[in-house]
Amino acid sequence: MRRVWHNKRIHLGKGTPMAGNGGVAAFITDSRKDRLIHERIHDPYKTGDKPPEPSVCPVCKAVFKGGHWQWLKSWPMDSPTAICPACRRIRDNYPAGVVTMSGDFIRRHRQEIVNLARRHEKAERALHPLHRIISIEEHTDMVMVATTDIHLPKRIGQALHRAYKGSLDLHYEKECCFVRVNWTAGDERHGREPSPKKRR
Ligand SMILES: [Zn+2]
Repeated sequence: MRRVWHNKRIHLGKGTPMAGNGGVAAFITDSRKDRLIHERIHDPYKTGDKPPEPSVCPVCKAVFKGGHWQWLKSWPMDSPTAICPACRRIRDNYPAGVVTMSGDFIRRHRQEIVNLARRHEKAERALHPLHRIISIEEHTDMVMVATTDIHLPKRIGQALHRAYKGSLDLHYEKECCFVRVNWTAGDERHGREPSPKKRR
């Protein structure tokens, strides 16, 4: 099961809840896989000496406390500063994950897709300060979202698949701790038209 997640291409066809490979659940029930990622991760932005607690990121004001970065309402005035891993990745333009959304469906619904990615970032970032979008690159029939973490790309990909079907696949490159998610929706046969409620 580990190998399926880590290095093999996981493909979800139109509305397919399970991948092949002997019926291994892919992508949808992922809490265990998330844990496995944490166990195996060798993130260059998370290694090295941990900052003293509490430390405050001077860029985003996340606070390192209890062994992790979190949003706090207050911290001691004399807290030391340390730039958090997410702000360092943004500064270096060094993503941990990329979601590529392509196909004719994008041509007709690009703004909606970008808004979906932004909404998911906002929700994710409220809980996890290090999960953020670094950049969004927009083309006529392609949108590419780069993130500071390996989880947000998957969340966005899952949300797209839930909302519009299409094809979703994911690569986790263990060695460089990088996630690549590709979502494609070509036309009406693949991309489901958004419901009126979602069409804002
Ligand atoms: Zn920061």
